[in-house]
Formats: sequence, structure tokens, C-alpha cells
Amino acid sequence: MKCNVAIIGGGPAGSTVGTFLRKHRPDLEVCIFEGDLFPRDHVGESQLPAVPVILNELGVWDKVEAADFPIKLGARYRWGPEGDDDLWESLFIRDGEFQDQPRPGKYEGQRAQTAFQVDRAIFDEILLDHSAEMGCQVFEETRVVNVLRNGDAVDHLVVKDKTGEEETVFADWFVDASGASATIRKAFDIPVDSPTALKNIAIWDYWQNADWAELVGVGGTLVQVMSLSYGWLWFIPLGPTRTSIGLVTSADYYKNCGLSTDALYRESIAKEPRITKLVENASREDRLQATKDWSFIAGRMAGENWFLVGDASGFADPILAAGMTLAMTGAKRVAFSILEIMRGEVDEDWLKGEYERIQSKHVGNHIRFANYWYSLNGKFTDLRAYCSDIARNAGLELEPDDAFQWLGTGGFTDEFSGIPFAGTFDVSAIKALAKKYSGQPISWTFQKNNVFELRLEGARKDVVGVYEDGRVHQVECYFRDGKTLPMYLLFGFVFRALQKEREILFIWERTGFEAKRAGFTRTRELARVWFEVLEVLVIEGWVEASFDPAVQMMSQAPIMRK
Ligand SMILES: Cc1cc2nc3c(=O)[nH]c(=O)nc-3n(C[C@H](O)[C@H](O)[C@H](O)COP(=O)(O)OP(=O)(O)OC[C@H]3O[C@@H](n4cnc5c(N)ncnc54)[C@H](O)[C@@H]3O)c2cc1C
Repeated sequence: MKCNVAIIGGGPAGSTVGTFLRKHRPDLEVCIFEGDLFPRDHVGESQLPAVPVILNELGVWDKVEAADFPIKLGARYRWGPEGDDDLWESLFIRDGEFQDQPRPGKYEGQRAQTAFQVDRAIFDEILLDHSAEMGCQVFEETRVVNVLRNGDAVDHLVVKDKTGEEETVFADWFVDASGASATIRKAFDIPVDSPTALKNIAIWDYWQNADWAELVGVGGTLVQVMSLSYGWLWFIPLGPTRTSIGLVTSADYYKNCGLSTDALYRESIAKEPRITKLVENASREDRLQATKDWSFIAGRMAGENWFLVGDASGFADPILAAGMTLAMTGAKRVAFSILEIMRGEVDEDWLKGEYERIQSKHVGNHIRFANYWYSLNGKFTDLRAYCSDIARNAGLELEPDDAFQWLGTGGFTDEFSGIPFAGTFDVSAIKALAKKYSGQPISWTFQKNNVFELRLEGARKDVVGVYEDGRVHQVECYFRDGKTLPMYLLFGFVFRALQKEREILFIWERTGFEAKRAGFTRTRELARVWFEVLEVLVIEGWVEASFDPAVQMMSQAPIMRK
């Protein structure tokens, strides 16, 4: 068999690569080899709003919506030291603003801000069927049993179908989207890095007829994340009757508790009063599963004619509900990189290096954020001290409490989307968390300062990749000490404003002007996050902030009065 691109694995990463390739190059022969027969169960059901963005680009959002999955509006947490019984929420749409609308809906308005909670058996099958409709050749129950190497290239694959018949597969490009199996990664002995202090295990099962906990409008709900004295439980309704409930605890606790996985699972649910109540009239499917050691980043993610993507390339932690986000945003980058390499206009090594740089940083930031998140809980070893190590990796020598503060004010933000994000949260949400858990007041730089000046000394000007419409655009940026300042989207607008202005009110006005000039029409989003961009630029050392009594403060701007 011979094709242009051979993809190993038909999960969200594999089907996303396949569909994007065919969407932008319908002439390509793309084969997806999936070992299982779909539908098949898979853990990891709670999405972030970045996933529907990709579903929409793939042209599959309507099909997913038609499956009537619960609309995820955010999560409800009980998370904190023993005795802290506070419930709090993190929402994708501001409280009370979600309107009742009939379903199936369209990917627009409020629905473009929400996510889904999906039964992966159904969701993954919709995505794989869509790839087939887009012209990928999908081979289910066909496992890749051997990867033959030729130096740093994959020479060919050997696949075996359910009848036991073997076939050799040659391709121009090979994509390893085989999840934890990591078929190519293992064939090439690629080492993995696990930059985490966490050693956790997860135990989960599915339930029929549990209550949903919360019903918001038509089909909206919140995932429940409830901490116990030795771990936490997830509670994710997947549809009208099916719910996923899982426990995460430290491997040490599991080893020392003397209970079987089943007994520990039952005991944990019995110990959490809200979840006990929700499953009062429910029954377990009795298909208990467990896994451990999930945080890692592959040392390499691209070679001569291959890419690693999704869980085969790295994964952070279930607490962030970010696995599908990392898998599908990475898959988009891999597909666009292959398309760009085939076009031959952009340097191939740069494209591979850029994918590796972004994907490693993306997974790495999520791992850092997961560590920080567990440190808030105070039950998972002494992670405050570990915050110092995280800061040291980023080139900062900080005492544990200062490091904790730094992380809690956005010290690990991503810039890939042109908008600062840390793990699952925007900078405002992280500050709110840091305030809640440190008990100390937390302020914004624009509340104390009114003069902001660019500091680019020692920075190197280069380009970063921006992945849009099947292309990888090279956008100018500055690099310094492992940090990136992209001149793209909101970062770009604020950067250009700072090149011309130094007083805060003028910077704000000029940012609006720059955004308008670039055709950016999401003015509410601009007003909401521009000061987060400024905050991150100050934290990362790109901008120096100071106070001048002769200059007006931001609080005097009309936007703040509104
Ligand atoms: C405990 C836990 C909880 C999680 N919770 C969440 C969550 O709430 N939200 C979230 O977004 N993510 C979550 N995740 C992560 C999420 O499940 C994964 O990140 C996601 O499934 C990755 O998609 P993928 O396509 O890379 O891999 P997979 O979904 O694993 O797909 C890989 C596919 O490859 C196939 N395959 C494997 N080997 C071969 C072979 N040799 N030949 C052919 N086919 C092969 C497999 O059958 C499989 O279908 C969680 C993970 C864990 C461990």
C-alpha cells in the first residue's frame, strides 16, 4: 500500500490531522490505521472551548452538536485545604449570561464560548467518520505492528487487520497519533521528560442515571471537581443517562491505603457527600479502569518524514481537562506543517523545530500549571517548594512563597493564540485563585503604575509560526531567556501601542486604534484582556512599569468607569 500520509491512530489527534490534510489538499491520499473498532470507550471527556474552535474549522461542529452532548459551561470546584468547604466555579461565560436557546444550536454567539462534555465512544467515532467523509481512507481493526526504520526516517509500516493478514505501508509522511502506545516514538527510542513532582494514579468507572448536579438553560452544565483529604474526584455527565466519575490520588496513598482499586473507588465516592447524593439512584457499569504516570513531554516530536502528535507526544494532567485541546491544536499544527513542507516555500527544518518548540512549551506549561494547581490544594506533597524549581527552570531565583506568587500571577502564560493563557485559565482567573489560596491581596500593574516602557535590550528578533487556513505564517517576534514576545493579535496591538506611547491612557487608546487598523472587531474581548497582556509583558520583563504623579491613572479612563 502507498499513500501520501499514513496516520497511526484514529483518536482525536489522528482524525484531526487527517481531516485538516484533506480539507486543504483534497488530492492527497491519507490513510488512518486504527487498531480498535469504533465506537470504543476512552477516558478524557471534559473539553475546553479551544476544542469547539477546531471542531468548527474541521466542519464537524454541527455533527457533534447533533449528538446532544451536555454543553460544558465551566467547572464547579471544592479545592483547598481540609475543612475548606467553599464551592466555587470557573465559567466560560459570565454567571447568569447563558441564555436558553433551542438545540441543536449553531457555532455562534454564546455557543462559540462553550465546550462539550463528551462520551468519547460517540465523539471519537463522529470525528473518525467525518475524516472518512472528507476522503481519508480509514482502516479500523487494523493495528500497526511494526515500524521499519531507515536512519531517522520511517521506511515503512507493517499493519495487521482483524483476519491476521499483514500488509506493508509506504508513505511520504508518517504521523504517530497512537496515544499512550506511542508507536513511532517507541520505535525510535525517543526519551521522554517528566518535569513534575506529581506521582498520581486515576481510577474511574461509568454510571447510569446519576443526577447531573447542575442544569443550566437547555443542556448546559458544569463539571464537578471535588477534593478529598487524599485526592480529588471528577464528575462529568456525558449525556442524558451516562456519567463518568473518577478518582485521582497519589501513588503513595494508593500503595499504603491497603485497599483494592475497587474498594478505594467505592470508599472515595462514599466520602464525598455531594457525589454520594448524585449517584443515590444510579448504577455503576462495573468497568473499572486505572492508569498512572501520565505527565511527560517527548524529547523529539518530528524527524525526517514523521511527526508525533497528541498523547504520543506528551500529556499534562487530568485536572486541567486539556488533553483533547493539546491533541487537537497540536494535530492542526502537524497537518499545516506537512502541507507547508509539501508546498516547499518555508524551510522544512524551521517548520519541524517550530512545531516542537510550541508543542513542548504548551505541554510543559500545562504540567507547570498542574503542579501549581495541586500546590493550592496543599495535600499533594510540598509543592510550594517545588514552585521554586519551576521558577528556576524559567531563569528566576525565587523563594518558595515568591515563586508561588509569581506562578499565581501568570508566570507561565502561553502566547500561541495571541492572547495570554495559563493552562486552563486566563490571567484574571489565575489572580483570583492566587488571592483565594494565598489569602493575600493581589493587584494589577495598571492599578499601581501609569507609565509603561518597552525593554527589548538583549532580545533577538526572529519569527514564530502562526497556523491559519492551512498555512504556517511566519510572524515577527522577540526572543529572550526562553521567553517569546510575538507581534501577533493582542500582543501585537499592545506592542505597537507601546512603541508609540508610554502613558497608560494613551497606550489603551492606541491599542484600540491598532486593533481596528488590523481589522480586529472583537472589541469586548479587547477591553477584557488588554490589561492582562500588559500584565504578562511586565511579568516577563518586556515592559518596565513605573508611577509618575503627573500622569493620569487607568482608573480615570472612561472604560474603567463603565
Ligand atoms: C485519567 C485521565 C483523565 C483525562 N481527562 C481528560 C479530560 O477531562 N479532558 C481532556 O481533554 N483530556 C483528558 N485526558 C486526556 C485525553 O484522554 C487524551 O489527551 C486524548 O485522548 C488524546 O488523544 P489522542 O488522539 O492523542 O490519543 P487517543 O485518544 O488515545 O487515541 C489513540 C488511538 O490510537 C489507536 N492505536 C494505538 N496504537 C495503535 C496501533 N499500533 N495501530 C493502530 N492504532 C493504534 C488507539 O486504539 C486509539 O484509538 C485524560 C487522561 C487521563 C489519563
